[in-house]
Amino acid sequence: MNMEKHHKVSIWYFIIGIWVVLIVQNYLASTYVVKTIPYSQFVEKLKAGNIIEVSITEKQIKGLMKSESSSEEDVYFRTVRVDPDTSELLDKYHVNYSATIESTLLRDILSWIIPVFLFVGIWFFLMKRLSAQQPGFMTLGKNKAKVHKQEDVGVSFEDVAGVDEAVAELVEVIDFLKNPDKYLEFGGSLPKGILLVGPPGTGKTLLAKAVAGESQVPFFSISGSEFVELFVGMGAARVRDLFDQANANAPCIVFIDELDALGKARGFGGMGGHDEREQTLNQLLVEMDGFDPNVGVILMAATNRPEVLDPALLRPGRFDRQVLVDRPDKQGRIAILKVHLKKIQKLGDIDVEELANMTPGMVGADLASLVNEAALLTVRARKKTVEKVQFEEAVERIVAGLEKKNRLINPKERKIVAYHELGHALVALSLPGTDPVKKITIVPRGIAALGYTMQVPTEDRFLMTKTELLGKVASLLGGRAAEEMIFQDISTGAHNDLAKATDIARSMVVEYGMSEKGGQVYYKGEPQALFLQQGQRQSATGDYSEKTAQIIDEEVRNIIDEQYTVAMKILDEKREILEEAVTELLEKEKIEGSYLEELIRRKETGEPLAAEVE
Ligand code: ADP
Ligand code: MG
Ligand code: ZN
Repeated sequence: MNMEKHHKVSIWYFIIGIWVVLIVQNYLASTYVVKTIPYSQFVEKLKAGNIIEVSITEKQIKGLMKSESSSEEDVYFRTVRVDPDTSELLDKYHVNYSATIESTLLRDILSWIIPVFLFVGIWFFLMKRLSAQQPGFMTLGKNKAKVHKQEDVGVSFEDVAGVDEAVAELVEVIDFLKNPDKYLEFGGSLPKGILLVGPPGTGKTLLAKAVAGESQVPFFSISGSEFVELFVGMGAARVRDLFDQANANAPCIVFIDELDALGKARGFGGMGGHDEREQTLNQLLVEMDGFDPNVGVILMAATNRPEVLDPALLRPGRFDRQVLVDRPDKQGRIAILKVHLKKIQKLGDIDVEELANMTPGMVGADLASLVNEAALLTVRARKKTVEKVQFEEAVERIVAGLEKKNRLINPKERKIVAYHELGHALVALSLPGTDPVKKITIVPRGIAALGYTMQVPTEDRFLMTKTELLGKVASLLGGRAAEEMIFQDISTGAHNDLAKATDIARSMVVEYGMSEKGGQVYYKGEPQALFLQQGQRQSATGDYSEKTAQIIDEEVRNIIDEQYTVAMKILDEKREILEEAVTELLEKEKIEGSYLEELIRRKETGEPLAAEVE
């Protein structure tokens, strides 16, 4: 958060404070110049009648004396008391004297008490600011305020839509929390930690709350990002506190939002400074290992960056179950829109499906703010009901915002992605030995992949034949081939495919002896320790000559080129199917592999393609 900025501000307060104190003291010093004089001089002045008054302590004499020239003001002086009978002397010369040091009282007040008040004031002010930022700051030991406990979250699965797969996985957890005995009787135990993984705004936090709401148990939540700005040792204390509270309140749900903020892999970044996070993470690991899920505490966490998490967090016995909360497809968006539209009391005649069509790529949070925006626009336009126009305007606004953040793909890109993905799928379906295509989507996921084709292996494979490997290469190239065929142009969307295809082709040549010119030779060489490779770079990958290296490159290239031609040929033959499927994919955003198979079957039997597929 804005800790940096805040830090600077507070340092400024101190600088100003010190500066004020210095000015005050300087001023006081200039007005109360106290001259230190020898005792002999004091006696002289006394005899000359120049001493006005004095105050005496055991060790010194302070007082006021007339100055040398009569024009100047009287001078404060101080001298060491040598003679214990000073009072007699003073009596003799009729000087007022006392045993207190009245003349310095004002000075003491000004130069000490005021600065002390000032510092205390600044301190309190800072504390107040700090604790406003992080409640619980003043209560250093127990930071209860930080752990947000909610008895009733007021969220149920009805409020979460379009993430049915995630919900299905969480139903079991709710059942456990409701009837723990049923599970314990059979000696079963639940996973300790459930990690919700998905892009921002897809409803992870909402889902965690819904689990608590559905199972009617308390919900303890804490956000990983809050740990980042804590003082050393406090993060760990807080984690301990969180688990203490949870154990005392079982059954309950403990939810750590934004786990990545505190669970980043350790040992990166160097240069210290991460000790605090490391300590906190270690404490979390310790607590996770120590607690027994059978007492009824379910630990949940959410992250949109699972790849940065410390692997230790994902080990069995920790966050070993991961639930994907994905971006919604069109059906999902319809469901989410319905949830939020329900909140609008005066809704005009709105076609939800049409609305879903206008919002490809949006996640739940975007849709929620879309509905909200439409309602606000209605108020602004002084209309009685929220109508289509308001939604259209709201979509425009939100799309503009999201485009700036690069989170939406435009219609042209969508079309390219659809052809690309279907290119993979059709080639894969047409070649023997490739994994079956389960589903194809153009719902963007992550940053890298715009769409994807999901192929699941039918069985665990130990061996792969040359035909199968070639088929794999061809289907990887199918995406780009489709782009080239349809648009006579290619995009950057294939770079991951190319990397994988090249990898397979290369392995075929250097490891599996599957190329003509390369022959049945294993070229890979033993992996060597890095320091042994120095100075002999060309043999780093294997023991072969320059000429062989050239042959390998050529053969890899040949495989790729040949399979690209294969892919092109398949797509050319199946162009009709491709076009039909693209229309369907653009409309639905997600199609099943079985739908494509059906199209292929119809094409073979000469049935019309366009009929609805069940
Ligand atoms: P995340 O934690 O994944 O970033 P949130 O749970 O904080 O997302 O979602 C923010 C808001 O967006 C929610 O409060 C809700 O209003 C809306 N929202 C997000 N996903 C959904 C969904 N699947 N169904 C209904 N509303 C959703
Ligand atoms: Mg969240
Ligand atoms: Zn691809």
